[in-house]
Amino acid sequence: MNNKWGKKAIQMCLVTSLTVTAIGGFAGSVSIAWAAPVKGVQTSQTDYSRLFTVEQFGDPDVEASKLRKVFNGSNHQTTGIYVKPNETVTINLTIVNASKAPRAAIFDPYITHYKYKPEYVTLKPGPNTISSPKGGIVYIQTFDILPVAPQVDVQGGEKIPFFILGKTTNEEWQRMLDESESPWAELISDRVHITVQKSKAKQYVQDPTALMQAHNRVVEAEEKISGLGVNSKAPNQSPKYRYHFKEVFDNDSYMYAWYNGAGVHTDSIDKLIDVNTFLTEGWGPWHELGHLHQLEPMEWDDMGEVMVNIYSMAAQRALGQKSRLEEEGIYDLAFKYLNQSKVDYHALEDPFVKLTMLWQLHLAYGDQFYPELHEAYRYLPKSQLPSTHEEKVQTFMLLASRVAEQNLLPFFKKWGLTPTASTTKKIQAMKYPLLKSEIWKNTDSNNSIKPNRR
Ligand SMILES: [Zn+2]
Repeated sequence: MNNKWGKKAIQMCLVTSLTVTAIGGFAGSVSIAWAAPVKGVQTSQTDYSRLFTVEQFGDPDVEASKLRKVFNGSNHQTTGIYVKPNETVTINLTIVNASKAPRAAIFDPYITHYKYKPEYVTLKPGPNTISSPKGGIVYIQTFDILPVAPQVDVQGGEKIPFFILGKTTNEEWQRMLDESESPWAELISDRVHITVQKSKAKQYVQDPTALMQAHNRVVEAEEKISGLGVNSKAPNQSPKYRYHFKEVFDNDSYMYAWYNGAGVHTDSIDKLIDVNTFLTEGWGPWHELGHLHQLEPMEWDDMGEVMVNIYSMAAQRALGQKSRLEEEGIYDLAFKYLNQSKVDYHALEDPFVKLTMLWQLHLAYGDQFYPELHEAYRYLPKSQLPSTHEEKVQTFMLLASRVAEQNLLPFFKKWGLTPTASTTKKIQAMKYPLLKSEIWKNTDSNNSIKPNRR
């Protein structure tokens, strides 16, 4: 792919069984947040509350920027209420500070273009009526954190099958699927939001509790290798916004990541919502979630589809699956490359061979290497953040050496990356032991070469 990861680049990718290809890169961001039903999520059947306290997580762009991420989180807060085409619903807003009122939209989940965004209107205190020619689910959006959270009460429309992990039971979910006439269904946990057709939910989601727990596990594994934790302090605290996965109908893409979440094509939706498929063959969704974690200053040219797989590999490993680098014979390709008389990392075409270099750092320096590396990027003052391709390459070698407490230049040179005189000087000045062990020979299953410590 062409690296267009500048400021607000976009990542779209097509995931095939072997390679991942990104297409395109655009600017433009939408911000977004989520509303949790306050009361009554659900005591009986589909009768959950129509009264919501708006979740207040602040501006998702600001959050993404603090985390040094390319993509922000999703601040589409669903109400779980479906509105038919041209049907009007009334949203009653209760708010103390009207100048910071949330917005509302009817989100059409029949998404045929990754740039789709619903038209939000700012709510006024009291009743507001909205409708849309295509219909969809009522979403709320806010960017502010007020002392008293606004409340919205939605009248009209129909409740969709809506599963909330920890609140809804599997039996209630099943009943909602049987009784609701809405074409859509949604499932949420504290971390993930999924929007799919009700027919697909019926086909694949018999145990929504297990499904959402599995999604949480994958989020946790990917955030862990990103150095993020729900209980960590800023700037290493997990984003509060959910990761929003949507079933999409655009035939140009198989799966993609974009602002506010990721899309999975309807023909492959089992990979997202069939819990067993997600856990064993969910590379596509793990990969798209990976795009939502990528750090902008870490991405040098042509690395968008490489860095992303640090996170998918972390998910694969956490789920007890065999490494994709082993399964697909990538190490053999990497060793063939490393044995060439002339090597040039930037000229490598196979993103998985490139990934091998990154993964060998994890193998040699352990589970803490990438979390600490991510933290190191987040601690860099803005003025020191690399912005050009070359600055990013040099910064990576420098920070990786610092985190490994090792002069890693022999490793990077072996892989065909060239340090500048300035980088060499800075790394030497750290006075860490020069790497002598051939850690570039390690694989997941034969990881016996340990870094020399002196
Ligand atoms: Zn991708």
